Amino acid sequence: MKTWDVISIGGGIIGLSLSIELRKRGASVLVVERGEPGRQTSYAAGGMLANCGDETPERLQSLATASADMYPEFVHELQDESRMTVDLRDHGTLLFLPTGRGSEKIKGAHPLPAPITELEPALAPGSRSVVFLKERSVCPRALVAAALQAAKHRGVDLSSGTPVISLDVSNGRATGVTTNKTSYRAAKVVNCAGAWAGQIPPYDFPTRPVKGQMVCFAMPSRDLLRHVIRAPEIYLIPRSDGRLLAGATVEEAGFDKRTVPDTIQQLSRAAVAMLPDLKDARVLEAWAGLRPGTPDDLPGHFRDGILLAPVTARIMADVMAGEKSDFDLSAFSTERFAMQA
Ligand SMILES: Cc1cc2nc3c(=O)[nH]c(=O)nc-3n(C[C@H](O)[C@H](O)[C@H](O)COP(=O)(O)OP(=O)(O)OC[C@H]3O[C@@H](n4cnc5c(N)ncnc54)[C@H](O)[C@@H]3O)c2cc1C
Repeated sequence: MKTWDVISIGGGIIGLSLSIELRKRGASVLVVERGEPGRQTSYAAGGMLANCGDETPERLQSLATASADMYPEFVHELQDESRMTVDLRDHGTLLFLPTGRGSEKIKGAHPLPAPITELEPALAPGSRSVVFLKERSVCPRALVAAALQAAKHRGVDLSSGTPVISLDVSNGRATGVTTNKTSYRAAKVVNCAGAWAGQIPPYDFPTRPVKGQMVCFAMPSRDLLRHVIRAPEIYLIPRSDGRLLAGATVEEAGFDKRTVPDTIQQLSRAAVAMLPDLKDARVLEAWAGLRPGTPDDLPGHFRDGILLAPVTARIMADVMAGEKSDFDLSAFSTERFAMQA
């Protein structure tokens, strides 16, 4: 029976980028994906690489910053190996502050480099304070497609369309996985099943799905908006092909991925209030995805899995090789969940 060095349960951005990193270090890797690789939460994300502002949990900040710094090289390699482009954009973010909030303690906040009417003539900013953040964005659909292609190019093996139904454990060590059709053997198994990570016996992690609904417009002109816009009521993410994403809700709705017309209309109204030229823009698509949430909002990757993919791949590959990580990982141990086996 064939044996791999590592099996990744799940082929989203986390499983794929880790598999690539492990292959680079010489390991044989099998990704076992329940559906099609790269078509779940990583496909639904907005793609902000948001390491500034004040939403990142304090204990995650050093990883978020390191990962944001790794992104250009991460994307360069993926594009090179996949021959695909992933629309990494570097125009920065305009962060609108809640009324009454000063900009003093906001991480990475800079004064606007020019008046907002020059930076984004089509915006209706109102009288709120706004700061500039040096952040990038990426198209997660393109990113995860490129990661899948790069993984294949590197010789990562893939099994799609069959769910892992249990992790096989012998004498306290993982020995492989069982799917609903067969079993696969490996010296190490890593659970990259995102919002579903807590559903694979025998371990019972308290991960939970946190639903996010989004809507996508065709901008009337490609450069209607250049910066990412973040405001308390809405965020807007322009893509180089003229699409504009508006999001996102944060809902406790179990594994329900349906969009709700009223909610999509609310998002659309908030987007139009910010960018009035969207009023007659075509809505291309609306969708929902399930963020991998945890009780303390630490990985699981919750709202930041696209941002955190490169640093996660590096750290996990180090840890799996028995090397000491450069980062303090004590806050992220699974032991914090008082796991039941
Ligand atoms: C609306 C929305 C907006 C977001 N915006 C951003 C953003 O702007 N920036 C950012 O950094 N992050 C964002 N996120 C978060 C980000 O999308 C996630 O943190 C990230 O995609 C998680 O990646 P993953 O690989 O863990 O999960 P997934 O992409 O869901 O991959 C997990 C895979 O595991 C598979 N799987 C599950 N169970 C099994 C099983 N039993 N057997 C085999 N395979 C299994 C699934 O089919 C899936 O393909 C957003 C999320 C949502 C929903």
